[in-house]
Amino acid sequence: MHYFSRYFLLSDKDNSHTFIPNWRISALRIILATGLMLCFSVLCHTFNAAIKFDLAYVIILSVSFLAAMVSLLIASKKYYVFCSHTLLLCIVAATVSMNLFLSDLNLIKVGSMYMYACPIIALMLLGTRTALFYAILNIIPFYFIINDINLSSLTSISTQLPNADWYISGLIFLFFNVCIPLAVARTIVAAKRLNKTMKESNTYLKDKNELYRTFFTDSTITKLIIDSQLKIIDCNDKARELFNFKDITCYMEVGLHTILPTVKIESKGKRTQIIKYKNTYQSVHCQKVLSSDYYVLRFDDCTEEQKIKQNLSAMELENKRLRYCDGQSHLPNREWFVLQSERLIAKYQRGFYIVVAQSSNSEYLSLKYNKNDSKTLLITSHKRLKAIDALLFCAHIGDGKLAFILNTTPINEPEHKLLDTIKRILDEPYNLRGTKCQQAFLLGFAHYPTQGKDSGNVLNNAIEALKLGNNYKSINRYDEKRSQAFLEKHEISMLLDEALQNGELDMHYQPKVTNEGKCIGLEALARWNSPTLGVVSPAVFIPIAEEYRMISRLTDLVIQKVCAQIEMWANTNTPLVPIAINISLIDFSQTDFMSKLVKYLADFNVKPNQIELELTETSLEANQEHSLSLIQNLQSWGFIISVDDFGVGYSNIARLADYPINKLKLDRSLISQVTTSIRQKSLVKAIHAMCKELNIECVSEGVETKSQVDTMADMGCKEFQGFYFARPLPANEYTKHIEQNGLYFNQQMNKNRNYSI
Ligand code: C2E
Ligand code: MG
Ligand code: MG
Repeated sequence: MHYFSRYFLLSDKDNSHTFIPNWRISALRIILATGLMLCFSVLCHTFNAAIKFDLAYVIILSVSFLAAMVSLLIASKKYYVFCSHTLLLCIVAATVSMNLFLSDLNLIKVGSMYMYACPIIALMLLGTRTALFYAILNIIPFYFIINDINLSSLTSISTQLPNADWYISGLIFLFFNVCIPLAVARTIVAAKRLNKTMKESNTYLKDKNELYRTFFTDSTITKLIIDSQLKIIDCNDKARELFNFKDITCYMEVGLHTILPTVKIESKGKRTQIIKYKNTYQSVHCQKVLSSDYYVLRFDDCTEEQKIKQNLSAMELENKRLRYCDGQSHLPNREWFVLQSERLIAKYQRGFYIVVAQSSNSEYLSLKYNKNDSKTLLITSHKRLKAIDALLFCAHIGDGKLAFILNTTPINEPEHKLLDTIKRILDEPYNLRGTKCQQAFLLGFAHYPTQGKDSGNVLNNAIEALKLGNNYKSINRYDEKRSQAFLEKHEISMLLDEALQNGELDMHYQPKVTNEGKCIGLEALARWNSPTLGVVSPAVFIPIAEEYRMISRLTDLVIQKVCAQIEMWANTNTPLVPIAINISLIDFSQTDFMSKLVKYLADFNVKPNQIELELTETSLEANQEHSLSLIQNLQSWGFIISVDDFGVGYSNIARLADYPINKLKLDRSLISQVTTSIRQKSLVKAIHAMCKELNIECVSEGVETKSQVDTMADMGCKEFQGFYFARPLPANEYTKHIEQNGLYFNQQMNKNRNYSI
């Protein structure tokens, strides 16, 4: 039954044939099936009678129609059109057969009416044109019936089946009452189903329309529908407002690109882009409508966000500019330089030199000229560097320092030739407001990666190397050892500067004695106990004070402290002996040295003959004329003048004869060998003899043993200074000693004393 229903009724939903609807195939099958049953029952029923009356044509016709019905039924789906036409032709053939093989005119007329079923069947199965054709064709049987035309004469068959009228009427009855109504019924069912589907579709469409209205027409979001040719198909009220479409249809004439030339439509997927439309920014979201060529464009006003974004990116840009730019000179700064160097490292992974250049006379220039001029000089130097091909990334890294990268492959000592050229270029005269201005550049350089693990490190090392520069050696390579020492020196100098400011230096006094140990003088020796560094030896801080030009301040402090001490001892009736003060070359070459000294003495009521000045041989030699007049001047005031450390380095006693000095202090290095080396002894003897001639007293410095004292005494030395007699003592210890022992210092006392040095 199920198969029967599936075969004859066929579902209207599942239309496997694209062109032929199932209900037509179904109607054809119903007609063919009922036709087949009719043919079969006629064949069965007429079979005996046909044989009996020798009417073979009846059997042939019945079998032929039966076979035709079966064949058509089988091919009904695959060759639907052919089958439909063949069915109609079969009906025509049946009508013609009845005209040919029946002898009764009335029956022929009835049989001719079979053909009247053709238009309705054709209408059902093939459509109006075929139905019309058969309607017109029906004029022939109609004509035959009206005019009593009989074709049986053509076959010359005079007998017919005894119950032929019964068969003909029965067949007509069944054909018009069962066969056609069944087919029509199937058609009606299909029509009903179609109607139902239509109704459903209408409801669906109505819903869709409602959605369309909600999401498109009445939407508060601007929307446009365009086709694949980018023609606007539809737009909602918001879009009309935005794009100023006055009447409903005017947008249809414009292509999308006429109003929005920058919008890009991608044929496939979704895409969002920001476009500028008049004074607004719109975020355009394009979405393809599934299984159609339409695109929906949705416009969201993002003007505010866009403006904020623009402001932000402008701010970001400005920030970036400020971050990588020196605020004053507007040149690229240190951060920029390090960044570029890091990029270079990352990209090429090869070594290079970082060079830092700075004008050595920038301080002087900034005093002479104003800030703007200094800036102009800096910018000009930067320009000169930038013009040199072999340099990369020239930047101002602060404090007038220009850094750049030497773009050369490392070869032995390549830098100097190129750096000499760079220095020459930088040192060339600058034109400042019409006048020529000279700069002298110092250059420091360090190599990546051998002298620093990253560019920041190498740059710092290049700066360190720069600090090593001076007028004699202006181009310096980074040297770890020198830099370390430099750093230490620098640190000490800063702390010393602070100590001098706060008067933190102490004075120790080392007695100068006769060979019997009687104190006939003292040497004031500076002591520095730094809170940070601890006790720092004068051998360390005195050279630093000289190098960093702090020695004059130190000497001033020492003179003041010594004068204050003399005043104090004078006030406490402590026996006074001359106190020697060490004077450095720098002090001695200062023009106001004399006046300052005299002033300090006056401040503390100290007489010049209470002060001995220890100068070095080099101080005298440095500026002979000046030294000579100064010594003469000092002596005229009554100061005692000694030459310290004689025997260290290049000593020329004959030259000393030119200066009116009072004492010559023989250095410990000479004294220490007089007992062991005969040559040394002879030398010292000769010095003694010469000094005697020149009326210069000899002082043995750094005596540590009795034999040294004896040997020197034998030679005629009358003054001794050394640990053998006494170490340098703080003022209070010295006072205590002479309170207890008088002015005598001898070895025994020395041993018992607990020195604080
Ligand atoms: P100097 O002027 O030749 O001072 C003598 C140095 O020799 C002192 O060292 C002293 O402690 C040391 N000395 C004395 N007797 C002996 C001895 O028997 N054996 C040994 N091994 N050494 C002895 P100090 O105090 O370390 O001073 C070193 C140098 O520092 C001084 O040499 C002087 O040139 C300089 N100096 C010290 N104080 C001052 C100062 O206030 N001003 C200046 N310009 N230089 C100073
Ligand atoms: Mg000395
Ligand atoms: Mg000395």
